[in-house]
Amino acid sequence: MRRLSRLKSRGLVVYGPIFWTQAEPLFLNLPSTQFTHLVIPRAEHSISRAAISPNALKVLYRLKESGYQAFLVGGAVRDLLLGITPKDFDVATNALPEEVRRLFRNCRLIGRRFRLAHVHFGREIIEVATFRAAAAPEREDAESSEADPEAEANTAAADESEHRAIDSTGRILRDNIYGTIEEDVWRRDFAANGLYYNIEDFSIWDFVDGVSDVRARRLKLIGDPQTRYREDPVRMLRAVRFAAKLDFSIEPGTEQPIGQLANLVDGVPPARLFDEALKLFLSGFGAKSYRLLLQYGLFEHLFPLSAAAFALPPYAYAQQMLELGLANTDARIAEGKPVTPTFLFAVLMWGAVLREMNEQQAGPAPDLAQLMQACDKVLRAQQSRVAIPRRFAVPMRELLMLQPRFNRRSGVKSLSLLQHPRFRAAYDFLLLRAQVGVADPELAQWWTDIQLLPQEERVALVQARPAEPAPDGKSGAPRRRRRRRRGGTARS
Ligand code: ATP
Ligand code: MG
Repeated sequence: MRRLSRLKSRGLVVYGPIFWTQAEPLFLNLPSTQFTHLVIPRAEHSISRAAISPNALKVLYRLKESGYQAFLVGGAVRDLLLGITPKDFDVATNALPEEVRRLFRNCRLIGRRFRLAHVHFGREIIEVATFRAAAAPEREDAESSEADPEAEANTAAADESEHRAIDSTGRILRDNIYGTIEEDVWRRDFAANGLYYNIEDFSIWDFVDGVSDVRARRLKLIGDPQTRYREDPVRMLRAVRFAAKLDFSIEPGTEQPIGQLANLVDGVPPARLFDEALKLFLSGFGAKSYRLLLQYGLFEHLFPLSAAAFALPPYAYAQQMLELGLANTDARIAEGKPVTPTFLFAVLMWGAVLREMNEQQAGPAPDLAQLMQACDKVLRAQQSRVAIPRRFAVPMRELLMLQPRFNRRSGVKSLSLLQHPRFRAAYDFLLLRAQVGVADPELAQWWTDIQLLPQEERVALVQARPAEPAPDGKSGAPRRRRRRRRGGTARS
């Protein structure tokens, strides 16, 4: 009852009558824990089935009809309470993964360290997780485990058993011990993410004061923050992401350890950090996420070379480019336009690439080969932190390599740039450079205008210009003498 008075003192009485149930032993004959939970009946919360994905409802009902418990859980419950459309719908159940698979023809089991069932409905996937007994990070290894050899190697020094493994920093590597809903809730990250919507009677089960946190727009880690961040340092990135996306505050106890523990992000598998970086920057709240990452000292652990370049005055403009690029990306997402990781990573890497190139090459103007070397070197170093898959890294490199070609505007050959598959992205990148004052606005305007002209006029335009050297120095055009670099000014 102490808990009840605590909840009342926090204003939960606004829900009217509060129903208490003593949670029963639910699964695998595990002994019942002492936790009671708040049950908020349908009449006293705002979640309507009409707002839940019909496919998620199908999964929930099928589980229920087969005698299992089935709850909508996590972000979907949080978002529905906030009145926003959830990105995805996750289900938690006491059915084992194999049992879930038997119920759904369109079901695949994924993950080695965490078995999860994915029920496919065309492009929509409903993720069904069996209740687990310990504080484990979710889905971290669904795709990333194969790309994570060091994490596996770490387990040599780890407390390892068949079902659960923790490394020397406290990071959970594997956890497949199934449990009850009362145990499952403690492994969730934030109280606002720890709510369960019961398909049995449409009530919400709240073990962790999650509803009050949602109402107060607050992120509070469940349990001891230090321990929870050590178990899974990605939770620090998730705190930032939800704070940016939901406009939530981070509760002081949850906020305080981040500065000190930010370096634990270095030990997270790079493939998983790539997924997190996409969620941070390409979900419509990238500019704010970036500001918070900086504020909490997390950005430098994701993109150390970029952070180092941004801190040097000659490359500070690259940070401005990133801020503008993220603001443009957020605006595109708000308008329902597509966005690509290629462009984002190009903007992220540019400062570091130029710094690398300039430091290697004091003296004559660098050529394309040097730009390429610098790109490759920076990308290689970056991959050990955030692994950018080849399908994005290759076009990103192309986009950057096209930048010097914009300087060449004479001769019919210069028009071939317009046909390059990467032209559009490279041109957008040029505009960004012009916006921060490191590319000539007249040059950017020229490439804007020429796109609107018919072919004959384009040809006339480039033929009318005096000959210029090709950026790779290989064209038939006469080579101009290379200009000396002016005192310490970085090329951009
Ligand atoms: P969104 O889908 O809007 O990004 P979400 O809260 O649904 O947010 P998911 O990554 O879909 O986030 O995860 C679903 C739920 O799983 C979370 O709400 C949380 O309860 C739990 N969860 C996910 N990742 C972790 C983690 N790293 N540590 C603890 N719990 C987690
Ligand atoms: Mg989700």
